[in-house]
Amino acid sequence: MIIAIDGPAGAGKSTVAKLLAKKLKFLYIDTGAMYRALTLKVLAEKINIKETDKIIKLASQSNINLINDPDGTLRVLLDGRDVSSAIRQPVITQFVSDIAKIGDVRKVMVGLQRKLGGQGDAVLDGRDIGTVVFPDAHKKFYVDADFKERVNRRYKEALGLGQNLTFEEVAEDLSNRDNIDSNRKVAPLKQADDAIYVDTTNLSIEEVVDKLLKEI
Ligand code: C5P
Repeated sequence: MIIAIDGPAGAGKSTVAKLLAKKLKFLYIDTGAMYRALTLKVLAEKINIKETDKIIKLASQSNINLINDPDGTLRVLLDGRDVSSAIRQPVITQFVSDIAKIGDVRKVMVGLQRKLGGQGDAVLDGRDIGTVVFPDAHKKFYVDADFKERVNRRYKEALGLGQNLTFEEVAEDLSNRDNIDSNRKVAPLKQADDAIYVDTTNLSIEEVVDKLLKEI
């Protein structure tokens, strides 16, 4: 069974998807982490984000893998190296959407995501899971929240990670990513026709998970 969870940044997708997967004993696939891992490599190799040919080549030559540990943590491996923390740096967040909008990069990632999800029962979260990656997913959710609340959540998360960001910087990043993710030509962020819309603005994580479980 495939469960697709899409929505904008800060809506609570990852936290909810991870918990849901744990409860259902499904694989959890954080597709954003895959775009982040590639972004880390692009920056490490000092490739300019405008050099799309080089980035596409790098995507096809990279080994990006997600490992679900028995304790519920997700490890992100880039060419065998654990990059789980490195991909959460603000500089990665700043550039990831510019890399994720490249059509041929998405082709590579979607192939990987289908392969990972095809191994069995899985919860995938991202932007295009229900529309492109698994259009036949058994259940699709579009998880959303008010902009201010999303910024609030990301700001608290950044503080928790010890990142030195202001509320305004987080707001600017979110609005910039919302804009690029929703307006790109290939696989833009949008609700699939058959997805269930869940507004998490005034809900706790547990309440959202319960809601999704009931639907499943
Ligand atoms: O989910 P997360 O915020 O970590 O995703 C980082 C970025 O990766 C998103 O802002 C988006 O540009 C890109 N992404 C995507 N398609 C997905 C998942 C993430 O384009 N399925």
